[in-house]
Amino acid sequence: MTKSERETPTLCRFAGKTCGACCHGSRVRPDRLATRLRRQTALFRRHVGEQPTALALTLHEQRVRRGLDLLLAVVLHLPLVGRRVHAWHHGRTICAFLGRVSHDETVGCLIHPTLMRGVDWRERVAYRLVPGFGCGSPDFLCVGARRFQRADAQQRSALREATRDLDSFEYGRIAQTYAPTDAPEVAEEPARCQ
Ligand code: SF4
Repeated sequence: MTKSERETPTLCRFAGKTCGACCHGSRVRPDRLATRLRRQTALFRRHVGEQPTALALTLHEQRVRRGLDLLLAVVLHLPLVGRRVHAWHHGRTICAFLGRVSHDETVGCLIHPTLMRGVDWRERVAYRLVPGFGCGSPDFLCVGARRFQRADAQQRSALREATRDLDSFEYGRIAQTYAPTDAPEVAEEPARCQ
């Protein structure tokens, strides 16, 4: 990512708010998400730190989900049952690498290349054992984020005001469905995370 790309506002990171909605299912409750973010951030800082290895990241993921991935690796391959479990789990899962980013405590991907000296670990480790789940393309933008790209200064300023007092979970809910008045329509969403 270039310096200018980092400085261009995106809906994912705007006006001091961050959205982590790509990295958890739509049925995750705010209280469960808050607990998980605290736990997995602490585990990441204790066991992975700033010098990650594939083994440390894989162990982190299994520690966070307490080995559930090993069971899912088998169950999700079963005919019929696998499809039902996938649909149920998809809405409720939380990526083990979503956490509080240490330099500013905002919610974000703990192994995003911008935090890992440009190395992209995500495809190699996230949901590695779980068939049908994984991290989306690095340039994925939801419909709301693509509408934001076309929004003018006044529309962005209105969003800033409307989300001023929201926490990251509430901000994420608004971000995904962001639709300023008179916004041109955008195409359907491509494949995404999880
Ligand atoms: S749900 Fe949309 S705004 Fe939120 S992180 Fe994903 S692409 Fe960005």
